[in-house]
Formats: sequence, C-alpha cells, structure tokens
Amino acid sequence: PSAAAEQELTDGFHLVIDALKLNGIETIYGVPGIPITDLGRMAQAEGIRVVSFRHEQNAGNAAAIAGFLTKKPGVCLTVSAPGFLNGLTALANATTNCFPMILISGSSEREIVDLQQGDYEEMDQLAIAKPLCKAAFRVLHAADIGIGVARAIRAAVSGRPGGVYLDLPAKLFSQVMDAEAGAKSLVKVIDPAPAQIPAPDAVKRALDVLKGAKRPLIILGKGAAYAQADETIRAFVETSGIPFLPMSMAKGLLPDTHPQSAGAARSTALKDSDVVVLIGARLNWLLSHGKGKTWGDAPKKFIQVDIEPKEMDSNVEIAAPLVGDIGSVVAALLAGLDGTWQAPPADWVNTLNTKRDENIAKMAPRLMKNSAPMDFHGALGALRTVIKERPDAILVNEGANTLDLARGIIDMYQPRKRLDVGTWGVMGIGMGFAIAAAIETGKPVLAVEGDSAFGFSGMEVETICRYNLPVCIVIFNNNGIYRGLDTDPTGRDPGTTVFVKDSRYDKMMEAFGGVGVNVTTPDELKRAVDAAMDSGRPTLINAVIDPAAGTESGRIGNLNPQSVVKRK
Ligand code: ADP
Ligand code: MG
Repeated sequence: PSAAAEQELTDGFHLVIDALKLNGIETIYGVPGIPITDLGRMAQAEGIRVVSFRHEQNAGNAAAIAGFLTKKPGVCLTVSAPGFLNGLTALANATTNCFPMILISGSSEREIVDLQQGDYEEMDQLAIAKPLCKAAFRVLHAADIGIGVARAIRAAVSGRPGGVYLDLPAKLFSQVMDAEAGAKSLVKVIDPAPAQIPAPDAVKRALDVLKGAKRPLIILGKGAAYAQADETIRAFVETSGIPFLPMSMAKGLLPDTHPQSAGAARSTALKDSDVVVLIGARLNWLLSHGKGKTWGDAPKKFIQVDIEPKEMDSNVEIAAPLVGDIGSVVAALLAGLDGTWQAPPADWVNTLNTKRDENIAKMAPRLMKNSAPMDFHGALGALRTVIKERPDAILVNEGANTLDLARGIIDMYQPRKRLDVGTWGVMGIGMGFAIAAAIETGKPVLAVEGDSAFGFSGMEVETICRYNLPVCIVIFNNNGIYRGLDTDPTGRDPGTTVFVKDSRYDKMMEAFGGVGVNVTTPDELKRAVDAAMDSGRPTLINAVIDPAAGTESGRIGNLNPQSVVKRK
C-alpha cells in the first residue's frame, strides 16, 4: 500500500469534538437536525454528555445556567436559521446576565448565503448574532477549528463573562485533514479567566470611603455568586460587621438567616445607607438605577467592585471604583480591614435589625395558613420549610407573583442555589435551568413556576422524564397570567390573561411516565414535594391557587404603561 493510503485522517466533526474535550467541555445541550445531527451522535459516542431538548431556547437556557454554575462556558448546539434564532434568544439573555455560554450553530453554504440565492435555511447567522453577544466567530477551514473553539472559550469566560456565537457551516464538518496535523492544530486554552488584581490606590481609596461611613451597606449580586469566592466574601462581610443585602441570585452566598442580613429591611437599608459597597451587582433597574425615591435623600457614596471597567458611573457617580475580579478585590479589601477598622455604629445596625425582625414577624402568620384555596403566602410557607430542611437543593423560580413572593419568602442557605429570571426578568428559563442544574450538580431541583411562566418551556417535561432527572416542578396554578379572572368585555373570547380553568398540569407529567400530583393545601404540597425529593423521580405538582390571589405584574406593576384616553 502507498504511503498516502496509510495516512490517517480526521475531519471537521472529530476536530470540533476533540477541541471541546481538550478544553474540558463535558456536556452539550441542543436540538439535533441538519447539519449537526451526526455531530451530536459522534460527540455522544466520544463520551460527551449530549442532552437533547425539544426547543432550542430551552437548550440555550440550560447552557447559560450551566455556565453560571460552573464558570465554564455552557455549550448549546443548534441547526441553522430558525434553530439558531431560537438559541440566540438564550445567548442574548446569557450575555445580558454575564453568564458564559457558547452557541454553536450549523449554517448553510457561504457561497449561496452570501449571494442570497435561496439555500435550505439560508441566513447570515454571524451578522445577526454579532450585536447580541460578546463575540461571534465563523470557522471555514478544518485546520482553524482548534483556534475557533479556543477563541470562543476565552471570549466567553474572560473579563465580564457572556455569550459567544460560533458559526460552523455544513461543509466544514466533512472537510478532511491529516490526523496528526489536526491534533496539532487544537488549542488547550491556558488560564482562560485570569485573575485581575485591583490597583493598590483604588483599594486604598475604597477603604478610605468605607472607613468614613456611618451607615454602610454591602450589596451582593449574582456576579459575586458567579465568582465562587464564597469564603473570602463571607470573611469580608463578617470581619467588617457591615449589614448586607443579597440580590436575588446572590441569596445564600451568606445564609438569609445570617445575623447581618438586611434582606427583610431592604427599603430602609437602601434609603438610609450612606456608603454602599456593590459587589458584582449593577445599578440597573433592579436597583432603581441608584437614584430616586428608593435611595432616599441623604447623600450616598458608592464603592463598586466589578470586572468590567465600563460598568462604573453607568447610572450614578461611583466614588470608589474597584476594577478587578471579585475574589482578588474582596481579598484586598479584607486585608485592608486591619487593626484600624471599627465596626459600623450600633444605632445603624440596630435600626436595620429591628426593622428586619418586625417585617419577619409580620409575615409569619400568613406563611402558616393551611387551608384551601391556597394563596401564594400559604403555599410558599410550605416550600420555605422544604428548602430549610434541604438546603443543598437547587431552587429554580419564575413567574410574576410566584417569583416576587418566593424571592422574599424562601430563605436560601448556600451559594448558587437560587436560579431565576435574572436581569431581564424573562419568562421561559424554568425547565432549561432546572435540567442543567440537575445535570451539572447532581442535586435535587425544585422548580417553583407560575402557570404562565411554565408554559414557555413546559414541553421539556418530556426531556426531564427521558433523562430521569431529580426535578420536582411545582406549578402555582391560579388559572392565568397574574390572576385568573379576566373576561373579554365583548363576551366573545376568554379574557386575554386567563388560561383554561382548573387545568391539570400534573397529567402532562404522567403522560411521559413521571409522577403527577394535584394538591389543594400547603400540607399536601409539602408532603408531595418531600416525596418527590426523597424518591428523586421526575415529579410535577399542580398546586391549586386562588385565582383571585396575585396582583398585576407582581411587584413591577409600575412598569405597565397606562392609557390616558377613555373610549366612549
Ligand atoms: P444582580 O442582578 O445580581 O444585581 P448583575 O448581573 O447586575 O447582578 O451584576 C453582575 C456583575 O458582576 C456584572 O456587572 C459583571 O460584570 C460582574 N462580574 C461577573 N463576574 C465577575 C467576577 N468574577 N469578578 C468581578 N465582577 C464580576
Ligand atoms: Mg398564574
């Protein structure tokens, strides 16, 4: 046989898989189809876990939250055009939330796409993705796959994490090259998210501001949860003695029951503080842009810890910007709390603690109401106990009232256990997040879903059953969006915000072999969730909630524009 015949070959399929494996990517979330069906099959054969979804947006959301949980880019794999666009929604959401993710989509023939000659699923995907993510790349030659994957990984996780699009045209997969040259072309990314040490004078400036505070406050955001600097953050909070407020996905970084938690005294803490240390939290709409009524009239100084320099002064002046990674910056601040540090004034701490304890006491009786029909507080009181008894379970949460009330009521005890609608307040993350949380952590997952929110990703209950994941979904079923009572004034149709009355979502789970339960009281709810978590079986609990419970848009009803014109 000739030398050429003996030459060992590789191709685009294998190079993509080898490049991902070389960089420790263990899981791909996606939906198969032309041109990436074989890529998924081969990746599975090579030991990568390939989780096939029913819709790309849910696979994309799974990849995004896998990135948040692991600090490695979550990978989503889709077909071209519509599949790509479905995944792109999740990629944009990941970028907005600063979660590292790579969307890999197959695409049609460049020559035909660029001349707009009407190919199968023709679309200039790279151009469309670019403004919606942190970086976008296309690979045209098999020999460049190694570099393309390396660039995608580094772009996703370095600096402020975010979404990256990687465009792989169909033709690339069957391109052949010499196996040895192929192996050499792969790149293992070294130190993909390097530490970014803050400048010493920036640290000193921040400490000077902090030492002058009379009513200091620390706000922990999901960047702090992402950073996995849990012990350093805890040491800084406890050594400083400063009260802290967790943003939604930072809950549990320190337990919500921690003596320094100001969670239940949020309004007072924001209004009356004089120096605020933001750690991985942006002054966006979720913090009323750092100004206005929420923040009170007293002058306020902000110290902001963030890896993204452009975040500083985005909404208000930042007196002490601290640019760097949270682990390094908080360690430097902690080191600066040497002998000269004095605990915050007792009257400030006492004011917040008193307010917090009052608010908790006021809420307590509502959480214990054990009757039908359930309201949100009664049902959430039961779930609050579940998480208290099982603090390592992961809570996924979306909805309007279901989200706002669960955030306040369910205490979290460990970091990165609460996953929710994030920066956009978007509906539809539920099943994608729940699936990835189960796969990435192996822990039981409790997904607390409004009936409306669930609808956006509900078909993935089949995926949950297929992979036999320890996911327990609780649907807060109040017959509709916000409330279940709207009617059509003309009498023709159902009201625009209501669903089929008394739906039985639990039957959906049974259709795929999972466990379905219908409950009408908090006691029944608690028993059903406990059974699900003990068994680890996929379970869906239809929790019947009073259709009159709930308010328009939950806590953000103020964002609804109001009509000023009355039709006669
Ligand atoms: P939240 O919604 O909880 O307030 P945000 O998503 O608004 O949190 O803010 C998270 C911030 O954390 C972003 O500005 C992001 O740049 C920053 N961030 C993410 N990872 C790190 C890190 N490792 N070090 C420093 N900052 C980080
Ligand atoms: Mg509802």
